[in-house]
Amino acid sequence: VYDRTPLIAGNWKMNMDHFQAVSLVQKLSWTLADNDHDFDKVQVAVFPPFTDLRSVQTLIMADKLELTYGGQDLSPHDTGAFTGDVSGDFLKKLGCAYVLVGHSERRSVHAETNQIVNAKLQAALRHGLTPILCVGEGLETRQAGQHVEFTKQQLREALEGISAEQTAQLVIAYEPVWAIGTGEVAGSDDAQEMSAALRDEIAERYDTETANSTRVLYGGSVKADNVATIMRERDIDGVLVGGASLDDAEFANIVRFEH
Ligand code: PEP
Repeated sequence: VYDRTPLIAGNWKMNMDHFQAVSLVQKLSWTLADNDHDFDKVQVAVFPPFTDLRSVQTLIMADKLELTYGGQDLSPHDTGAFTGDVSGDFLKKLGCAYVLVGHSERRSVHAETNQIVNAKLQAALRHGLTPILCVGEGLETRQAGQHVEFTKQQLREALEGISAEQTAQLVIAYEPVWAIGTGEVAGSDDAQEMSAALRDEIAERYDTETANSTRVLYGGSVKADNVATIMRERDIDGVLVGGASLDDAEFANIVRFEH
C-alpha cells in the first residue's frame, strides 16, 4: 500500500501581507474545524510569502492547528552572500514542511533553468523539506503536441543526482502554463495523461515502487466547482491552487472536494 494521501496546496503568490495572512489562516482553520475536517485523510498546506511565515507559524503553534505550510521558493545555497535570497535552513527552522520548487512564474520571471531547479531541489532535501516540484508545458508546446516529452524532460533534468528514496518523498505538481491563472482548466483526461506520464518516467528511471509512492498534483485554475472531477483521476493525488486559495470559503470547499 502506497501512502499517497491527497494534498491540497494553496499558493498565495505575492498576495497577503502578514496581517491578512493571519486573518486568512484563522478563517480557513475555523471553517475546516467547523466541518470536522480530517487532516489525516486530506492534507492541507498553504504557501504564503516569506514575510508571513513567522506569523503563520506562531498562529498555527498557538492554536495547535493541523494546517501545514511552506515557502514559495528557496535558495540553492545554505547561507552567505546571496542578497535577497532565503535558505532552506531558514524555512525549516520556521516550521515549514514543504517548499515550492520551479514554479512556472519562477521559471519565466526569474529565468530559472532545470539546472537551477535541480540545485534548489537538492537544497530542499538537504534541509528536510518536502519539495513540491512544479513542471508543465506552455501553450505552443502543447499545440505542437510536444507536452509529454517536454514535461518529462523537465522532470529528468530536475531529478539529476536525486535518489529513488528521495524521489519517493517528493511531490510533483503538473501545471500546464496555459492553465495557470487563466481560468482555463486542463481537461481531467489531459491532467491524468500527464500525471501518468510523469509517474512512468519515474518508474523508468528508478522502479515502479518509487513511482507509486510519489504524489502527483494538478495545478491550473482549480476551483471548488472543478476539483472533484480532477481528483477522480487515478494518478492525481491532489491539487496546487493559486487564485482560489486566497478566498477562505472557496479554498475550504476545494479541501472538502469529497463532499
Ligand atoms: C499556481 O499558482 O500554481 C496556480 C495553479 O494558479 P491558479 O490556480 O491561479 O491557476
